[in-house]
Amino acid sequence: MRQSQLFTKTLKEAPKDEISINAQLLIRAGFIYKEMAGVYALLPLGLRVVEKIKQIVREEMNAIGGQELIMTALQSKVLWEKTGRWDDKVVDVWFKSQLKSGGEVGLGWSHEEPIGQMMKSYVASYKDLPQYVYQFQTKLRNELRAKSGIMRGREFLMKDAYSFTVDEKQHEGIYEASKVAYMKVFDRLGIGDDTYITFAAGGAFTQFSHEFQTVCDAGEDVIYINKEKNIAINKEILSDEILKDFDITKDDLTETKTAEVGNIFNFGRAKAEDLELKFADETGKQIPVWMGSYGIGITRLMGVLVEKFHDDKGIIWPSRDVAPFDLHLVSLLKSETENPSDELYENLQSMGYEVLYDDRVDARAGQKFADSDLIGIPYRIIISDKTLAQNSVEIVDRRTKESKLVEIKDLSDYLKQNV
Ligand code: ATP
Ligand code: MG
Repeated sequence: MRQSQLFTKTLKEAPKDEISINAQLLIRAGFIYKEMAGVYALLPLGLRVVEKIKQIVREEMNAIGGQELIMTALQSKVLWEKTGRWDDKVVDVWFKSQLKSGGEVGLGWSHEEPIGQMMKSYVASYKDLPQYVYQFQTKLRNELRAKSGIMRGREFLMKDAYSFTVDEKQHEGIYEASKVAYMKVFDRLGIGDDTYITFAAGGAFTQFSHEFQTVCDAGEDVIYINKEKNIAINKEILSDEILKDFDITKDDLTETKTAEVGNIFNFGRAKAEDLELKFADETGKQIPVWMGSYGIGITRLMGVLVEKFHDDKGIIWPSRDVAPFDLHLVSLLKSETENPSDELYENLQSMGYEVLYDDRVDARAGQKFADSDLIGIPYRIIISDKTLAQNSVEIVDRRTKESKLVEIKDLSDYLKQNV
């Protein structure tokens, strides 16, 4: 991508009403556009990051047998009434709307009910189970507070998965596999060491659900961690009784601010009972399906990455796996045609790298470096008259700030080993 052609421009300042660091930096660098509080559009750079996060999640979900689909955004009132969750007193984030032809619809804030209903068309016997389906979907939630930038949107992208199994044992298999898959995702995103599988409020069936909480000052949650015992407990459920159950005292726990990046949930048979989603067992008896649900906040993750990896100059994407581009080629050469940097740009691409190429002729070096710092691609390759005089380019690592002259003939090897 030639930067001269990118329609977004970096901004010196974020909107005044934007108080979160993640949104400030993402807006200034041209990753997102603020439509209104809690509602952000994904611009080309932001979309690339989100697609990379999605791809990592997709690979790990597919690896444990997930099948991808997309459910609808418009949802049936009648369906949600069956489970008692149409009521605004029960679910306080609904957006609802009237149909012109009469009747009311809801805008999808979650999909347990529609996906359970859909499964009634495909599940009849124990032979049809287990099933594990997932989607990447824009959720709409009328959140009261929207002060955390893209970490709490009124419109946001979630990966939600749902498991359908015959019994608790089959459920546990998928539930535990999901825990492992989730941790692989967070490792690949660069936040594995800082993400804790945390006991949280349960719900329909089990005593607990499990949240994936990432250490983050801008997060809205508080958890208590004991690293040796590998225990993390959400503050919401911490009580004398729970401490006793875990055989631990409050002094053994460290209070930590975190952001919830994922949540997995066991519904037991309760949800399927309400929906009348049943299967016939070996004897022909009709039994409600055992259900689980598994969320990951995709756009929240982009925000968490920015909160965790930035400095006073801008974003610092932790690796090419989540950065919008692998390399930022910054040309300080003056001539507009027959430019050796054009050739380098082509070569880097044919080596298989995704390159953002700052080919702007009207921007000064200082401006180019400031923009590059703000956008935060891990590796910057600078080509100038000075470097060319030594048949070299300069490579700067945005994370360590280390810089190095590399001869152009050695560049391919260098990148293979380092990027
Ligand atoms: P929270 O307690 O933060 O409101 P939640 O319990 O409502 O989260 P779920 O309904 O389990 O969350 O959604 C699954 C995941 O989606 C969450 O773990 C979180 O990462 C993400 N998420 C939830 N609400 C939002 C939001 N308003 N904006 C961005 N991401 C969100
Ligand atoms: Mg919520």
